[in-house]
Amino acid sequence: MIASLAVLVVFDVASGATLHREGPVESYEAAPGSTIKLVIATAAAEAGRVDSSLPRALATSDNRYFKRLESALGEPAIQRVARRLGMPYGTDWTRLRVRAPALVELVRQLALAGPAPVREGMRECGEYGTCHVDAARVEVAGKTGTDLTPREGLQGWFVGWAPAERPRVGVVVGLRGGRGASAARTGTTALERFLLPGVRVQLADRIAVVPVEDYVAGVVEAEARDAPGEAQKALAVLARTFALRERGRHGTADVCPRTHCQAFRDRPGAAAQLAARETRLEVLTHADTLSPAHYFSTCGGHTAGSEAIWPELRPALPDVDDGEFCRASPHLRWQAVLEDRQLEQALGVRPTGITVETGPGGWVARVHVQHAGGERILGGEEFHLLVARKVGWSAFKSARFTVAAAGTRFLFRGTGMGHGVGLCQWGARGRAEAGASYRDILAAYFPGLSITHARP
Ligand SMILES: [Zn+2]
Ligand SMILES: [Zn+2]
Repeated sequence: MIASLAVLVVFDVASGATLHREGPVESYEAAPGSTIKLVIATAAAEAGRVDSSLPRALATSDNRYFKRLESALGEPAIQRVARRLGMPYGTDWTRLRVRAPALVELVRQLALAGPAPVREGMRECGEYGTCHVDAARVEVAGKTGTDLTPREGLQGWFVGWAPAERPRVGVVVGLRGGRGASAARTGTTALERFLLPGVRVQLADRIAVVPVEDYVAGVVEAEARDAPGEAQKALAVLARTFALRERGRHGTADVCPRTHCQAFRDRPGAAAQLAARETRLEVLTHADTLSPAHYFSTCGGHTAGSEAIWPELRPALPDVDDGEFCRASPHLRWQAVLEDRQLEQALGVRPTGITVETGPGGWVARVHVQHAGGERILGGEEFHLLVARKVGWSAFKSARFTVAAAGTRFLFRGTGMGHGVGLCQWGARGRAEAGASYRDILAAYFPGLSITHARP
């Protein structure tokens, strides 16, 4: 039989508010299995009968240890504690039945005020015991339960919370046809997903609160829907880093869905969801803080360093040789012929001559605009923004250009599209197609930065 999710409840530990629920939460019931050991352990702690091996016995769900403890404590003492915790109890565990709301209450009581050895056992359960999940991105405290009675077939529970030491989000998972250990995997993923507060996205008519991982998938969908998987994953790490770094810097929202922040599309497809899932909680960091996570369309062969454009950015992002990696981009080369009158609308002065100073990587560092009243000097990216805003972003694509005058016209020949700082999206595609992993791609455009897990 294949395990299937029966019920899932994710809740805020402090308030008890439900964050997410699936399945018939109120009506589904199953034997509590070893989750009943939490009741016995609590009764033992309250009776002052805890020895040093209790945490380990809880973590490994040691049946003999708990049967012994149970008979030492006696049924009435355990029954009293069970009633207070809202749990069923009797010495024949297989005859008991429990539902998700009772387990939610149990988790909350233990998370908020459970005896220290019980909480320690639940923490160790996540660390090395039956709740341990390989590659878990959060420290989870919990307990598994498996019902092996043949009547309803195999049923598994997982109850727990995260972070282990500072409970914030709790989870109860009921699995049909699966053991507690499988339920722990489902529960851990749910905890990871809900531990980070959602991203507040400014939409046209409202602010939507989107779980971080859904937001990341939505950005990948909007920005790189048809890119190779590893390029999508590199973008997913950047999208997540950007969202967490910008938190609260956009008025009452965190981000907008325009190029000002990051494009975002609701209902991402399977590939975008996979890119988010396979990089879940991964962010780009520098000295334990979130690093700048800028990206753009096409560099044309060499990215721009951040010093010239955003001198205050820390750490500064270097210019990077991108070789031939973005040559498949439709924005590799562009041309724009602009009349002096058009440029006057963008710049405020009518140019009689334009010369450029080129900086690292071929990006224009400064533009000298001669006009009847003298000379105006602009930064390269500043010039690109002013002109593109007037004539269109797809007409004047970047600050990587040369310029020649012919009468009242100026001919701009450029390469690349976007501000040029950080990851070149078409270069990332090229690198992925050449076999680079998303880690290789990020290391190429963000040398010296690390990929770590976002800490809630
Ligand atoms: Zn914005
Ligand atoms: Zn490039």
